[in-house]
Amino acid sequence: MPEELSDAEAARYHAVHAAGTDWSAAIRSGSDDERDAAGAAFEQALTQLRPDETLNKLHVPNDADEWRDGLVRLMCRIPDGWGRWISCSKGWYPLLVQLDADLAAIDPGYELHQCKEKYGTLRFYFDTDTDVDAARTRMNALVDAAEDRSARTCDRCGEPGAMHVRNGSGWMRTLCAARAAVDDYEPVGETVTELIPGRRGAWELTTSDGDAYLDLNHGQLEHGGEPHRPIEVLDWPAVGDRARVRLPDGGEWTSGTITRIERIR
Ligand SMILES: [Zn+2]
Repeated sequence: MPEELSDAEAARYHAVHAAGTDWSAAIRSGSDDERDAAGAAFEQALTQLRPDETLNKLHVPNDADEWRDGLVRLMCRIPDGWGRWISCSKGWYPLLVQLDADLAAIDPGYELHQCKEKYGTLRFYFDTDTDVDAARTRMNALVDAAEDRSARTCDRCGEPGAMHVRNGSGWMRTLCAARAAVDDYEPVGETVTELIPGRRGAWELTTSDGDAYLDLNHGQLEHGGEPHRPIEVLDWPAVGDRARVRLPDGGEWTSGTITRIERIR
């Protein structure tokens, strides 16, 4: 069984994580100086990691709690050289431990290559030596089902969740409504009757002239497959009305009559 990180090594990883969080906050809302300072601090924390000494050790998450044994079992399946990490949040630990038990029932020696969150859902990459096609097919189906479940499970608390996007940034996570409200995330797929100045996000406008996409995070309009940026909204979109936008060349675009406004990011 691979060694666990020592306390000192774990502390260095936590320091890097904290420095990374500070840096991303500085990128979002800091001054140029704060951003440079946070970037330098992150870089310095990284130099303390000595990844060649720690890559193959077990990186047990510090919030593993009652899922610790299950997560260790899972990480022990990761071969040398891949990095023994589980890169997702606590709300999905039960789902992972169950998936591992189900896969191991088919192939006790299967290997895990990577387990992480991407675009708000679980990605689980594994390999099996079984040459029984039916077993392989069943294992793939289990992984697909777990990845689908992750898209309906809050990655923070494990309660039922849905895809959300961080207001203004486009960062996606599967969250319950309570957590989304605390962390300033908005539900993907929500519909509104109007957009107002100050609103963020990327929106699909269904109109009598076809669909258009208004990305208020980046000041971009796309219609007829053509992106325009930067734009200025002159008449804000509202259901039953037309939107009007100033294009980069100084011209104006007027939408068809809007029938639906849906958040896509
Ligand atoms: Zn939650």
